[in-house]
Amino acid sequence: MNNRKPILCSACLLGINCRYNGKTKTNDKVLALAKTEILIPVCPEQLAGLSTPRDGFGIKNGRSITSGGVDITDKTQLGAEETLKIIKILGIEKAILKQKSPSCGSGQIRDIFSGEIIKGDGVAAALLRKNGIEIISEEEL
Ligand code: SF4
Repeated sequence: MNNRKPILCSACLLGINCRYNGKTKTNDKVLALAKTEILIPVCPEQLAGLSTPRDGFGIKNGRSITSGGVDITDKTQLGAEETLKIIKILGIEKAILKQKSPSCGSGQIRDIFSGEIIKGDGVAAALLRKNGIEIISEEEL
């Protein structure tokens, strides 16, 4: 038996092609960490039932709006809730989340409408934080 606590991790950081553009954001530090820690790859947007590739989205007045103008707030919320479900099942206390994503970003998200970085948490990161999960980004490793 292994006593190490699993850590939730944005799947794209581990090389999974789950981003809106069908690509990955593989991060060498995260990959190296996977050799010593139990990292659980999760993509809240895929858990939301969104297709890959898909239109990117941004947060406007608290709503998730795609680049095509579609309101997908219900889906992004579902993805966040499914992510939290995995966290609870596995007793996870910590997550490494992709910075600047409208789902996973912690403290910073890229606004797809202006291209600027704005303050705030992504949809999934916000729900995890609300539930006491420690969040760090790949930039803090
Ligand atoms: Fe990566 Fe999170 Fe975006 Fe999925 S939702 S592609 S895990 S940043």
